[in-house]
Amino acid sequence: MTALTSLTLAEARAGFAKKQFSAAELTEAHLAAIEGARSLNAFVLETPERALEMAKASDARIATGTAGPLEGIPLAIKDMFCTAGVRTAACSRILHNFVPTYESTVTANLWRDGAVLLGKTNNDEFAMGSSNETSHCGPVTSPWRRKGSNTPISPGGSSGGSAAAVAAQLCLGATGTDTGGSIRQPAAFTGTVGIKPTYGRCSRWGIVAFASSLDQAGPFARSVRDAALLLGSMAGHDQKDTTSVDRPVPDYAAAAGRSIKGMRIGIPKEYRIDGMPAEIEKLWEQGRAWLKAAGAEMVEVSLPHTKYALPAYYIVAPAEASSNLARYDGVRYGLRVPGRDISALYEKTRAEGFGPEVRRRIMIGTYVLSAGYFDAYYVRAQKVRTLIKKDFEDAFAGGVHAMLTPATPSAAFGIGEKSGGDPVEMYLNDVFTVTVNMAGLPGISVPAGLDAHGLPLGLQLIGRPFDEETLFSLGQVIEYAAGRFQPEKWW
Ligand code: GLN
Repeated sequence: MTALTSLTLAEARAGFAKKQFSAAELTEAHLAAIEGARSLNAFVLETPERALEMAKASDARIATGTAGPLEGIPLAIKDMFCTAGVRTAACSRILHNFVPTYESTVTANLWRDGAVLLGKTNNDEFAMGSSNETSHCGPVTSPWRRKGSNTPISPGGSSGGSAAAVAAQLCLGATGTDTGGSIRQPAAFTGTVGIKPTYGRCSRWGIVAFASSLDQAGPFARSVRDAALLLGSMAGHDQKDTTSVDRPVPDYAAAAGRSIKGMRIGIPKEYRIDGMPAEIEKLWEQGRAWLKAAGAEMVEVSLPHTKYALPAYYIVAPAEASSNLARYDGVRYGLRVPGRDISALYEKTRAEGFGPEVRRRIMIGTYVLSAGYFDAYYVRAQKVRTLIKKDFEDAFAGGVHAMLTPATPSAAFGIGEKSGGDPVEMYLNDVFTVTVNMAGLPGISVPAGLDAHGLPLGLQLIGRPFDEETLFSLGQVIEYAAGRFQPEKWW
């Protein structure tokens, strides 16, 4: 039998049904794997007692035939999701001791369906970053290494801990949040599947807010079908988030495996950027060939405002962040550094509580929202955002079902390789992912190959609003063609 930590969700469920192992045994195997992988720093909090308690409750439900769709499935939760009674710090010093009294809707949905909480995973502080290096808890080391090298590699970010945990087989799936690429980029860097659904598909209630008009939750998994199963539980309408949409949640897993014959796939010509490595271009070409072989038709499309997406994102996201993060004042949450009066308390708390990248975003955001600059920056960026959205609408109206692009402009980089000097170098990582958040569309990253050094590369599929099903169907075709990728264990 395959090791308990390398099962798919379907295999785990079949194992329970045939009484090959219990939910408690499956959870114990994962807790042991987590303990053995502490050097990766993927988890910032392990919750073994709670995990075993939840797994035993799952075993009881399995025994009485009342199992939920994710019964006994051990998951890791990004530290951006509030978990009742379990510390949630967004990997920031300012929230170092924050224990929520409430549960995020997305995680509540997972527990409702029987899933088991293994612990909280590392992320860039307040999800601001692309490498997990801005985390107050330190960087995550990817389970992947370049062939013949010990250089520690970044799993990407901001959901680096979740991506690394799934890739290293420390959990069967994990949650992430994606504001500009934080699910899709780490998925691409770690050879895992990650989907950011349409804005409004998952409730944002109880998720630590970064940029509210862009934030969405989504799953990480080792297969397209597993990602579909997880999203099916996470998604849904929630009265506590007025931006969540009241539409039925389709059977996403049924879409994985459906024929893609006759689908028209847009290839946006603006994604062919200068200086793109030849192997990314080759991967993209390979992706087109796989989809064609499965009966889809490739059509070139134009998204003319693509080049403005990154600069516009780095105005809109910090603006919303500066407003959202105003609540961390030393009075209501977490860290408090006393001062001689209330202003001094605010200033000292915020100066000591936030790391340098978060401070940079707050300053940029406050600047672009300030009187005199508001029209020149923020309003302009919002107009650009409308144009980006319209580019996609026009292409979809032209009869395109989805688009295929690379997920990232390169494979994963070494820890420290991009975080030394110019922050823009790190921001450039998001060039293929931010447009999707700006337009509110669903995007999936599917592992598609390895680079010359043996590091994973991903392809991104972008869908019409609320058409995650098509992404799962197309993603499954790529997965069948490319195979699945697993790092060699060294930790
Ligand atoms: N890397 C992007 C940023 O730093 C996106 C982060 C995210 O999606 N949370 O803002």
